[in-house]
Amino acid sequence: MAKKVKAIALLSGGLDSVLAIALLQAQNVKITGLLIQTGFTGYREKAEPGIRNIRDIARELNIPLRIEDIHETYWDTLLNPVYGYGKHMNPCMDCHLHMIRVAARIMKEENADLVVTGEVLGQRPNSQLAHQMKTVLRESGIEGRLLRPLSALCLPPTIPELEGRIDRKALKGFQGRSRRPQLELAKELGVAHLAVAAGGNCFLTNAVFSVRFRDLLKQYGKEGFPREDIGLLRIGRHFRLSPDAYLIVSRNEEEERLLQPYRERHCVFEPESVIGASAIGLGCFSNEDRRISAQILGRYSKAETAERVNVIMREKDKCLKICAEALSPDDLLLKELRIGE
Ligand code: SF4
Repeated sequence: MAKKVKAIALLSGGLDSVLAIALLQAQNVKITGLLIQTGFTGYREKAEPGIRNIRDIARELNIPLRIEDIHETYWDTLLNPVYGYGKHMNPCMDCHLHMIRVAARIMKEENADLVVTGEVLGQRPNSQLAHQMKTVLRESGIEGRLLRPLSALCLPPTIPELEGRIDRKALKGFQGRSRRPQLELAKELGVAHLAVAAGGNCFLTNAVFSVRFRDLLKQYGKEGFPREDIGLLRIGRHFRLSPDAYLIVSRNEEEERLLQPYRERHCVFEPESVIGASAIGLGCFSNEDRRISAQILGRYSKAETAERVNVIMREKDKCLKICAEALSPDDLLLKELRIGE
């Protein structure tokens, strides 16, 4: 009897990766799910009504889940992509290749036969066009061992298919952007209830996140970029005050809380005696930058109707009081300095 095929399957939480796994399980392939965390993908860890998290999906598929955190090595992929960026800061081709290489390493470690993905030929313009899928296959170093079950009939057969250990005829030849074939297959395989699963939500495809990221890259350069501050790009209102000064103003109590861990490393602006937003300053603030920071903070505090606002700026052991005129909500300067909405 032929040895049971073992595969490492990338599991993103989206329907396609679930389908690829279910399709192979129907052929008795032994699957280990692999979730790769780049540091830029927000997976829902808590169950929400109607939404399953990645662990629930693995449990429902009855497969072990391996989680690999690649954020250390991913930084270079992100800042120096060989194949460039998509619409925003998403280096999808390089990212995908990086993930396949990680999966290939694990395939060898676990003595498995295949790496499996839920890719569909022509579905995503940044990494799933025919030439891109071919490039990934060639550069991954695992030709013959990378199986995309949903589009397998449009691609060269893998080694287990050639050996007859996987029935190629039972695989699919999906192509293009239509989701209908996947939805029908989901029903057929009894995994349609997973179609509402929470997919990975990649911040690098987000326009606002990317605009802020690019802006700060100009300030710090690739080498000097403070990686530990990347989470700040998702919090608050952002303003570019000068080439060296970048201000982030909280929008609510929740953001105040989220800004807390960054306060020790950066200068902090707070209104002196009224309730209102606080801000964090990244970089080197001139007197003019400080004055504008106080004016912006005045706009978002209860002092916004007052003519003058007193703001305390703290930086390490320095403490400074700045007195400035609060900007009015329709001041054009606010719009001019704003980075991302
Ligand atoms: S969307 Fe994000 S996680 Fe997905 S391939 Fe592109 S960069 Fe990577």
